[in-house]
Amino acid sequence: AGRAAQIRALIRDVPDYPHPPVVFRDITPLLADGPALTDVVEAFAGMHLADGASALDGEIDVVAGMEARGFLLGAPLATRLGVGFLPLRKAGKLPPPVERVDYDLEYGSAAIELRTGTLHPGARVLLIDDVLATGGTARAAAELVERSGGQVVALAFLLELVGLGGRDRLTGRTVETLLRVG
Ligand code: IMP
Repeated sequence: AGRAAQIRALIRDVPDYPHPPVVFRDITPLLADGPALTDVVEAFAGMHLADGASALDGEIDVVAGMEARGFLLGAPLATRLGVGFLPLRKAGKLPPPVERVDYDLEYGSAAIELRTGTLHPGARVLLIDDVLATGGTARAAAELVERSGGQVVALAFLLELVGLGGRDRLTGRTVETLLRVG
């Protein structure tokens, strides 16, 4: 628990950002800390999937990260595992052709996109992001991967905001979180 507490202390809680009553969890100090960043990537690499049987290594073909902080954690994890990385981007950032999934936010809507043809048919995908909040983004990301012909092996997050019920939107999926807060 000692190391987890140290890592947790490098995630800053910012009240009322971007607007009240949100408490924004800022991972910038963690990213800036070399040993902490290394330990986080190693913790993802050493994860055992929820079935208890298999470690990640050898179980996935590609890491897919949600824009933008999923890129910062997912790309080093991909190189650590010796697999490729797929960016799942906010709408309008990737050149066509793209696959797209629209989803609802608390206020308004959003879309994420994946470059058509970058995901090999049947590829085993690990989805990664920094924070699991309501789960809307992750659910859309999983749908995007599946619609594009991939298999979602698991979804991994640095921090789970347990009170927001993200797991309920990901029922039936394997969800791994390194840290959890109320
Ligand atoms: P969700 O769709 O409500 O689960 O929100 C998750 C998405 O919003 C992820 O892409 C997160 O990076 C981002 N997000 C939500 N809350 C926070 C936060 O407190 N800190 C950093 N990112 C957050």
